[in-house]
Amino acid sequence: MNKKLTVIDSRGEVLSCVLSPARSYEEQLDELFKFGKSGGHHVSFDGRSVKAVDCFCQETLSDFPVLSLEDCDEEVRLSWCREEKRRGPIQDLHSHTYYSFCGKDRPEAIVEAAIAGGVELFGICDHNYGVGFGRKDAYKAPVDTVPLTYGKHALRRYFDHIDLIREKYADRIRILRGIEVATDAAIGKVILPEDADISFFDYCLIEHLDHESSNTSGDLFAFAERCGCHRVGVAHTDLFAFIGQKGEDPYRYFKRMAECNIFWEMNVSYDSIHKYREHPYMLRFFEDAEQQAIVRESGVRVSVGFDGHRVEDYRPDRVVAACHRLTAMGIKLAFEE
Ligand SMILES: [Zn+2]
Ligand SMILES: [Zn+2]
Repeated sequence: MNKKLTVIDSRGEVLSCVLSPARSYEEQLDELFKFGKSGGHHVSFDGRSVKAVDCFCQETLSDFPVLSLEDCDEEVRLSWCREEKRRGPIQDLHSHTYYSFCGKDRPEAIVEAAIAGGVELFGICDHNYGVGFGRKDAYKAPVDTVPLTYGKHALRRYFDHIDLIREKYADRIRILRGIEVATDAAIGKVILPEDADISFFDYCLIEHLDHESSNTSGDLFAFAERCGCHRVGVAHTDLFAFIGQKGEDPYRYFKRMAECNIFWEMNVSYDSIHKYREHPYMLRFFEDAEQQAIVRESGVRVSVGFDGHRVEDYRPDRVVAACHRLTAMGIKLAFEE
């Protein structure tokens, strides 16, 4: 039976072609790209992506993530055809500015990179301790010199600044005002002070939930309530492993998250600050149909975040691909209508 191959191109368009099982896919894709036998390029296809590669230097010229490869009764078609697939909004809900000690960019710089990359919903989500202390020397100072507490206006000022950025770009991109909340009490002064109010943010991302020294004590629901934001996300955490360790049923846990407006982040970072590693839980999720089915059926929302700290490292194509893949799986994105 012929196979319909659906991919996402570099501009985020969903394209399809129909391949025959009688010949190698790569050979057919070479024809589709009109590379010819003696040309300087060829296609490499591993089931996950279609890559156009320069034969001489082996450089990848384009890389189209595969959305699906399914049986179909259409005739072989070695040309791309644009698909009218349901297309979720392209979102990146995890980005850092110079408010984070590990970030360095002005908010405008990362917003403009997001717009150029086709992102439609963009969440700025700096670390609570960067925002709260403002200065690294205050954050580094011993607790008896500068205690774990923020000035009354620190979080508000950051919020107001991001709010101005939101207004400035309102006709080009939708911006959300977020904050990433560190919860590992063993790391000096990163956790949110007890009296800090973050409930006015559009959302927060909780990190370190699965650390032994997390001040959430592993109780996501209680901590989300303490945060008080309308929506709360769990950043870069292997929730299937976490739920398994608690001895709970993943479907029920995710369903409860859905009921409490708590979403799960697929973190697609791939940059210098994270040493070009990809999160194994994210890679696994995109491979594992069983995990995908549990998430889809539970109704829990999933967010996509690049976790950018350096605008020159930003890879919005990874964000676009992840949003398309989730949408194609029938999973709703966070903040999707
Ligand atoms: Zn984080
Ligand atoms: Zn982050």
